Amino acid sequence: MHKTNEITRRMSHSIKKIVFFDFIKNQKTLVQFEYNKSIQEFTTFAVPVQAEVFCAFSSIDELKEILSTEKHSKREKLILGGGSNMLFTKDFEGLVLKNEISGKEIVKETEKEVFIKAGAGENWHEFVLFCVSKNWGGIENLSLIPGNVGASPMQNIGAYGVEIKDVFHSLEALNLETLKIETFSKEECRFGYRESIFKNSHKGKYIITSVTFELQKQPVFNTSYGAIESQLKEMNVSKPSVSAISEAVIAIRSSKLPDPKIIGNAGSFFKNPVISGTQFNSLKTQFPQIANYPQKDGTVKIAAGWLIDQMGWKGKTIGSYGVHKNQALVLVNYGGAIGKDIYDLSSRIIQSVSETYGITLEREVNLY
Ligand code: FAD
Ligand code: NAP
Repeated sequence: MHKTNEITRRMSHSIKKIVFFDFIKNQKTLVQFEYNKSIQEFTTFAVPVQAEVFCAFSSIDELKEILSTEKHSKREKLILGGGSNMLFTKDFEGLVLKNEISGKEIVKETEKEVFIKAGAGENWHEFVLFCVSKNWGGIENLSLIPGNVGASPMQNIGAYGVEIKDVFHSLEALNLETLKIETFSKEECRFGYRESIFKNSHKGKYIITSVTFELQKQPVFNTSYGAIESQLKEMNVSKPSVSAISEAVIAIRSSKLPDPKIIGNAGSFFKNPVISGTQFNSLKTQFPQIANYPQKDGTVKIAAGWLIDQMGWKGKTIGSYGVHKNQALVLVNYGGAIGKDIYDLSSRIIQSVSETYGITLEREVNLY
């Protein structure tokens, strides 16, 4: 009886409904709508999921055309970039819009700086490599992060001591209500630790169409993360450069993190909690080894991976999914898991950490 329920539960996620298409076509645009389409392959967690309606766009004109279509304008909408920061726990009843706006353009150049605008559908890592090849500094520490340029401001992507806000100039986004393009400055994006206005009050209200970055021709390098220093040493690099740091980051990441093309995952499932100095002091007396990073404002960042590891989760496998063996922050789908499996595992982890440390971990991954 139990087994039949389990089979039915998994089948409901994988039944192939009939996919059919329709189009809108005019002089400028050709847009194709697909119905009941599997979008499993467009997300790095690779759990089974269908979109009620799916459509890709490669220009602002196409996007506006789609959004003014009587049939689709009222549907709930979800913007899909590289699908590397999302987990679906059920099929999406609405319109999934896949952003494929490409292009790069230098909008301003001085002796010291380059202002480069990139289409939201550009692959992030390819964009980084392009800038590295020109020797423009600022985003080399952010090498090998999956996903697209358009999602980079969403959670102010960060790694190895650098965040997108450090190089961000402005972005353009389509307001879903007015269908007008608006420009957002750095201040207006309200960037925080893995946060921006687009993850909060503006969630689901704008589609980012391009991002402009301010990069340096004579960069100051950030090698403060120990792993970068030691990797550079191993590479026999005595004088850091944009390309050496990029290569070092690629090497560290490749040796440690699961490649989503091989093992389904969405990077860090949880954020590192930031707690008050007082809470930290009391935790430290109880747990002297607690991995911590004091912040300038007196708060303390705790390594969530350390907490999860201490609770015995690191490397744990439950059937076809689990916690990665090298990094306890990363939940993985070895193939065959459904979104709810991963979500339930994350709830168990949150509960166990909370019971022992009194810290409630927050999920970083966007849930649908
Ligand atoms: P998606 O997953 O497609 O979308 C994420 C969210 O943004 C969704 O809510 C989506 O609706 C919204 N969105 C996407 N594009 C747009 C748009 N154009 N306009 C409006 N909304 C949009 N993140 C880090 O910060 N640092 C890391 O070091 C890092 N490492 C990772 C390593 C691995 C192996 C993996 C799998 C993930 C990692 N991530 C990291 C998480 C992820 O790659 C980033 O958050 C990335 O920016 C997500 O981009 P995406 O295009 O895949 O976004
Ligand atoms: P790590 O180097 O093992 O470090 C563990 C945690 O400690 C990190 O989360 C990091 O916080 C923090 N940390 C380490 N050194 C620090 C320092 N010198 N100053 C302040 N904080 C420090 O982490 P990792 O898993 O290999 O990841 C390396 C980098 O890639 C980290 O910056 C991480 O955020 C990023 N990354 C992010 C994702 C994601 O999906 N968001 C996935 C993989 C890797 P921070 O996370 O705040 O940097």
